[in-house]
Amino acid sequence: MRKRMILNGILLLCFSMSANAMDFFTIGTGSVTGSYYPTVGAICRLANQYKAQSQLHCSAESTEGSIYNLHQLRQGQLNFGIAQSDIIYRLYTGTGEYKDQAYPGLRSVMSLYPELLALVVNKESKIEVLQDIKNKRISLGSPDSGTSATVRLLLEEADIHPSDFSEVSYLKAQKCPEALRNNKIDGYFYMVGHPNENIKESAFSLNANLIMLDGKPIYNLLEKYPYYTVEQIPAHLYHQVDDSISSIGVRAVLLTDEKASDESVTLLVKSVLENFDKFKEYFPNHHTLEKADLLQDLTVPLHPAAERYYRESGLLEADQ
Ligand code: GLU
Repeated sequence: MRKRMILNGILLLCFSMSANAMDFFTIGTGSVTGSYYPTVGAICRLANQYKAQSQLHCSAESTEGSIYNLHQLRQGQLNFGIAQSDIIYRLYTGTGEYKDQAYPGLRSVMSLYPELLALVVNKESKIEVLQDIKNKRISLGSPDSGTSATVRLLLEEADIHPSDFSEVSYLKAQKCPEALRNNKIDGYFYMVGHPNENIKESAFSLNANLIMLDGKPIYNLLEKYPYYTVEQIPAHLYHQVDDSISSIGVRAVLLTDEKASDESVTLLVKSVLENFDKFKEYFPNHHTLEKADLLQDLTVPLHPAAERYYRESGLLEADQ
């Protein structure tokens, strides 16, 4: 009897140990109606198909965006995070707002898709070009977002200062459509993949417009910071936005720390590469994405496990 009890105890212990053996990891994203969150949702869904074998469970955390994600990654509070390539570059090299604060342990996992800066305005506000935002109520992006950092550089080149607005705010992205609809702001900036639910919501609920970002401030910005590109937000993605809109772009990149486990990094790369068609189906941003794009414009070295996987799958040649 006593022997049986001991045996049962050992069995129970083994069972609970194996049940606890699952490792959980989290990827920092952005607001749920942006494009980071659904993209990571798709990646985690694919990764979690393998969880019986991998004993790893992936989940997406909604956050304020790039700056928050990179900070948490550095602090070891997040295992992975998505961020804009402009912020990543400055952080890794310790330049711009990260002068003397380089983060050399930052590693790339995959480049995802272009993000384009949108200036979304209420048509009633009569904002037609960038300079018209002076004397208006504008939200420049929440302080922990990548949006606010890019907008700051753009406004510097456009010679527009916070004191030029009648009211300046730094709202979280998900609060902006409601604030625009309720006439609390005249417009907001959002650096994001297109289409996305946030701008769809604004375009459906009021007469919203997207403003062209072109001309001298953009040329100056590109000259100073060659990692920005000129891009077009295609026509017809949003209700009553019938023209394509010129803007500046960066790439959304999935990152980790050099100390991340090879298993978790391999799992993420494998999940996307082995289920590439499904990955593209999950999210409209990705229908033109090709496997080689996962390595596009990376300015931070790959995590060794990611590099190994790309080599084995022939996406990285021996001389790269
Ligand atoms: N690029 C934005 C940022 O870092 C987030 C966009 C998104 O959530 O899709 O602030």
